[in-house]
Amino acid sequence: MGRAKGALKNAFWEPEAERLSPKRIKEVQNERLRGLVRRVYEGSAFYRKLLRERGIGPDSIRSIEDLEKLPFTTKEDLRDNYPFGLLAVPFSKVVRIHTSSGTTGNPTVVAYSRRDLEIWANCIARCLTMTGVTPEDVFQVILGYGLFTGGLGFHYGAELIGAKVLPSSTGGTKRQVKLMKDFGVTAFTSIPSYALYLGETAIEMGINPQKDLRVKTISCGAEPWSEGTRDKLEDLFGCMVFNSYGLSEVGGPGVAFECIAQDGLHVWSDHFLIEVIDPKTGEALPPGEEGELVITTLSREAMPLIRYRTRDIAMILDDDVCECGRAHRRISWIKGRTDDMIKIRGVNVFPSQIEHVLMRMPGVGNNYQIVVEKKGHMDELKVRIEVTGDIFKGELKDLVELRERISSELENALGLRLTVELAEPGSLPRAEGKAVRVLDRRPER
Ligand SMILES: [Zn+2]
Repeated sequence: MGRAKGALKNAFWEPEAERLSPKRIKEVQNERLRGLVRRVYEGSAFYRKLLRERGIGPDSIRSIEDLEKLPFTTKEDLRDNYPFGLLAVPFSKVVRIHTSSGTTGNPTVVAYSRRDLEIWANCIARCLTMTGVTPEDVFQVILGYGLFTGGLGFHYGAELIGAKVLPSSTGGTKRQVKLMKDFGVTAFTSIPSYALYLGETAIEMGINPQKDLRVKTISCGAEPWSEGTRDKLEDLFGCMVFNSYGLSEVGGPGVAFECIAQDGLHVWSDHFLIEVIDPKTGEALPPGEEGELVITTLSREAMPLIRYRTRDIAMILDDDVCECGRAHRRISWIKGRTDDMIKIRGVNVFPSQIEHVLMRMPGVGNNYQIVVEKKGHMDELKVRIEVTGDIFKGELKDLVELRERISSELENALGLRLTVELAEPGSLPRAEGKAVRVLDRRPER
């Protein structure tokens, strides 16, 4: 519901590939899947062994209908074969190496050939062009540069378009806002919680994001978020905000992106083959059913992945061609990660469900925290919520009615009793990286 600063135009970066018919997409996928199986069979000891165990030869896979014969690849496979066990090309062909954050144990490695980097930049260029970025734009990349794929991924895509790229990376929030204003930034990308923080900081600095900044298109991703947060961001900056999806294991951002229809994220289906499976049984689920996203990289050379289990929960949307003219399959927003799911008194809760409720409620500020504790034998769920500055008059206890309204909305949505605690505006911790939304203080799980 954002007030767009001038309407964004639907545009194409690679018109031919982006406008493939559903039938052509399938043909391209069949051909590339056959090529992929042949390549990993020849180039990757890891996959050759896995395929042989299943009696699959280099020419056994004829089309995407055979996909289910292929084994899954998991994050554990990547860890077990750290660092370069999944390479499918000679090491001399690798020109870039990134890793995932890897908070515990070995990080997961992602290696790129020159062609992988070209395709990656073109995928990002497609995403940005689709959401209104042109050579005229000043594009601020407010994502970590370095081993994280976000910064460099967007950098090269935006540069390929010919936009004026400002590699401001993360941190130094006031400086970020100053650059945005002084350089007339018209487009930026960041993680959503940080985009909110940037908007708040601008206001604190006396800068009205809608009037004093020229931002007309924003893309956000790399952490779970909700359409409620999108609405807040669109109101804050007065422009359209788009959801970006990718993960380092399959190459980084640029896997899927919203178009200006804002009706699901287009997966670039000539490069990525997507499935949704039941995470328990591994069985494929039809469009409209929620499950775990599984991605096969059709074009990657250096480190292709077959049926990679992303642990992200989403669904495939109906297969019709979108109003933007693209038939590339659309997925829903990511509901959460199987890893993020919190089990409370037997009920599965995704932090994004809580966010979804909160961000639509008037009086709720930009920051919240979910705390899970054990009281006796019982799990206790507490949600700490910052209120907005306009309703806070110095005493939180004056806001009893708001607190009760939030708790009944949350209890309805989750089917779970919980405690709501209000907090003063600006009092919960801010992160210049990904927001820490969940504190699970239960002793053993
Ligand atoms: Zn579309």
